[in-house]
Amino acid sequence: MKHTSVKDLLNNTKTLQEVTAKGWVRTFRNNQFIALNDGSTLQNIQCVVDFENTPETTLKRITTGAAVCVTGTLQESQGKGQNVEIQVSKIEILGDSDAEKYPMQPKKHSLEFLRENAHLRVRTNAFSAIMRVRSTLAFAVHQYFQENGFFYVNTPIITGSDAEGAGEMFRVTALPFDNTPRTEDGKVNFKEDFFGKETNLTVSGQLEAETFAMGLGKVYTFGPTFRAENSNTSRHLAEFWMIEPEVAFNDLDANMDLAEDFIKYVIKYTVDKCGEDLKFLEGRLLEEEKAKPQAERSEMNLLEKLNFVMENNFKRVSYTEAIDILRDSTPNKKKKFNYLINEWGADLQSEHERFLVEKHFKCPVILFDYPAKIKAFYMRLNDNTEPGKETVRAMDILFPGIGEIVGGSQREERLDVLIEKMKAIGIEEEELWWYLDTRRFGTAVHSGFGLGFERLVLFVTGMGNIRDVIPFPRTPMNAEF
Ligand code: ATP
Ligand code: MN
Repeated sequence: MKHTSVKDLLNNTKTLQEVTAKGWVRTFRNNQFIALNDGSTLQNIQCVVDFENTPETTLKRITTGAAVCVTGTLQESQGKGQNVEIQVSKIEILGDSDAEKYPMQPKKHSLEFLRENAHLRVRTNAFSAIMRVRSTLAFAVHQYFQENGFFYVNTPIITGSDAEGAGEMFRVTALPFDNTPRTEDGKVNFKEDFFGKETNLTVSGQLEAETFAMGLGKVYTFGPTFRAENSNTSRHLAEFWMIEPEVAFNDLDANMDLAEDFIKYVIKYTVDKCGEDLKFLEGRLLEEEKAKPQAERSEMNLLEKLNFVMENNFKRVSYTEAIDILRDSTPNKKKKFNYLINEWGADLQSEHERFLVEKHFKCPVILFDYPAKIKAFYMRLNDNTEPGKETVRAMDILFPGIGEIVGGSQREERLDVLIEKMKAIGIEEEELWWYLDTRRFGTAVHSGFGLGFERLVLFVTGMGNIRDVIPFPRTPMNAEF
């Protein structure tokens, strides 16, 4: 008989019919009640076993973690906590699970323990909820762009340009480590490598996406990116998924509008679709916050926070204004910041970003017009800036609890200015000849941004560590699974 998902069974109002369900045993109480979960929903379905007419040997095999197939009658539940249950007439053990050895016991496990068991943690309530939310968010990303006339482009994962400048890169090579071919001056001879040049895993698809925007108009990427940054933080992964829209004829204001509209849309879509999972994650977060001192607890619960973001305008603040606020702030005056803000031009650390968002504005903030010196070469230089105080049309979106979630800019469309800026940081023109061609032939104002997908999932699920919102995290010294 064809089996039905637990989700469909629980939504079924037609009782007294024969059904089959397959899933994993979460608990088995009183030799009678199986809580069965198949991942389709947070909820388990209760399966009532007729223990008097079931062989003892079978009952013994109904253990936490075992895969089973049950057939029986779907009926209104006598007990509390569920509307329907299955009165089991036949049970088959599909896969045994040694109760002594199965790591996912029906109790609360620490997040650290679950990370070490990342291959099994998806069988817990919290991780199945997170992964369903992640999947829904990913779908919402495509839905938003597809509904708004964007084309999905797949930019290369192996890149030959080391000029992206977004972070440390992982080298891709087919050269042997023993007897590595060398040039006359003793350097590794990449001319003999697979691609005949140095190649790396991409840190961003932006440069390629820009070339596509200058032909398809509105494009987006959504794919893996890699950064060999040795920062063991709760917001950095060595492998993460990035969403990068790029739009011809958009200036920085249009870029900010797009980012804000996009974020609100995907959050709303997910709140509408994943209410049950988010409610559960909200409860989890509340529990976790109870352990914190009052002052560190958030004022809003998870769904209130998500609603707040959907319903309020992001505060748009120039870098210059932000520096003034930070310079005059209490933590700066009392020397509480690790990096004190003394002058215009300082790079903002996450402590500053979080102060602005969480303490000062208490809402998502878009900072724009950063000093040219601390931003990438491809960002559009502002007209009319004082010498020494040049700014670029950059914007970062800062979120409560997360810090930077989006980094973007209007791109420098003027060939001469772009070449000048590349020269200043030592990027050869020949290196990026193809990129410069977009400025040679039919250049135009255009803008885009990069949004770290896991940071978005962090925000929506209320989780605190980025390792817990991706199936198998890659971080320094960790590539298990
Ligand atoms: P940060 O200052 O937080 O390291 P960044 O300035 O290096 O970020 P960008 O190069 O602008 O970030 O990348 C765009 C977006 O990608 C960021 O806003 C963030 O959401 C995400 N991101 C960047 N680095 C990582 C990482 N190592 N792990 C996960 N997400 C990341
Ligand atoms: Mn970084």
